[in-house]
Amino acid sequence: MPALNDVLNRLSDAADAGETPSAADLEAVLASSDAELMDVVAAAARLRFRHFGNKVKLNYLVNLKSGLCPEDCNYCSQRLGSKADVLKYTWLTPEAAAEQAAAGVSGGASRVCLVASGRGPTDMDVERVGKTIAAVKNAAPGVEVCACLGLLKDGQADRLADLGADAYNHNLNTSEDQYAEICSTHTFADRVDTVNSARAAGLSPCSGLIAGMGESHADLVAVALGLREIGSDSIPVNFLLSFDGTPLEGKWELDPRQCLRILAMVRLANPAAEVRLAAGREVHLRHMQGVALQIVNSIFLGDYLTSEGQAAKDDLELIADAGLVPLGLEEAPEAVREQVKVRRRGAGTEVAPNA
Ligand code: SF4
Repeated sequence: MPALNDVLNRLSDAADAGETPSAADLEAVLASSDAELMDVVAAAARLRFRHFGNKVKLNYLVNLKSGLCPEDCNYCSQRLGSKADVLKYTWLTPEAAAEQAAAGVSGGASRVCLVASGRGPTDMDVERVGKTIAAVKNAAPGVEVCACLGLLKDGQADRLADLGADAYNHNLNTSEDQYAEICSTHTFADRVDTVNSARAAGLSPCSGLIAGMGESHADLVAVALGLREIGSDSIPVNFLLSFDGTPLEGKWELDPRQCLRILAMVRLANPAAEVRLAAGREVHLRHMQGVALQIVNSIFLGDYLTSEGQAAKDDLELIADAGLVPLGLEEAPEAVREQVKVRRRGAGTEVAPNA
């Protein structure tokens, strides 16, 4: 095993030179020890601050159509046959979606992500989403809109661009080698095709991964390098939310330190990409979320597609405590000042101690 300092120096040199880093070095980051964790975070943080300064982009999800998907992605609570007790509803009207989006924008989001469950949209769905994009932008001029509607057929990416979409999300999720383990109804290549068609249409490609599904370090590195290869502008890093009633029910492979190593590896593999802390951060990173902000430059604000996130207020406090500023704001949100609480429990009182 090479010394970690040498590995991090090589990765930093590759980033400076704009070269693709070696898979072996990226795997060494994932295999590093807890004692080396802050060295790994520091190497990734240097790249984060070099490319993005103290800004954090806030993104807001609106689930336009929830549940009842015919695809069988094992990690997804909306999959075919899912017994997960999640919300199920058909398309929100453009007005209802714009109202949801406006809440996120007023909380500081500069990008709204419009998501619909399903294998992919019909042409009529694309037109419907176009009306929603117009309603969102009308209510919040200047906001970016990313669509996430599944696999795209010929011409649909161009049409979404014509209708005002700025970006298209379609995650690679995991390595090509592991793809058949997590889904049988479409392939890794199908996903790559859709990301490529989005880019060709002039949409900013957003594509990321999910960690914690049984993959190896080599799989994680392969998907991080795959995202570099397809030129993903923004990379959501999700940590598996294991829903009861799905095939990955009960799966729990991550701890907060490994989540930081994964984020750092993705950053070192994609120095200038927007790396986004996505679903699962609250349950898997927990108190290390503030440290993660030293690596990522983007988060989702508020709730996820079928699960609740932490309060938006807590996210803004995390950002302020890290000395960071939401993109679009000039100054950091005001720092929280906790009042001193005089002790009225434990020794010297009749009240149970705090233990
Ligand atoms: S295609 Fe999307 S909504 Fe459908 S099961 Fe897969 S991840 Fe879930």
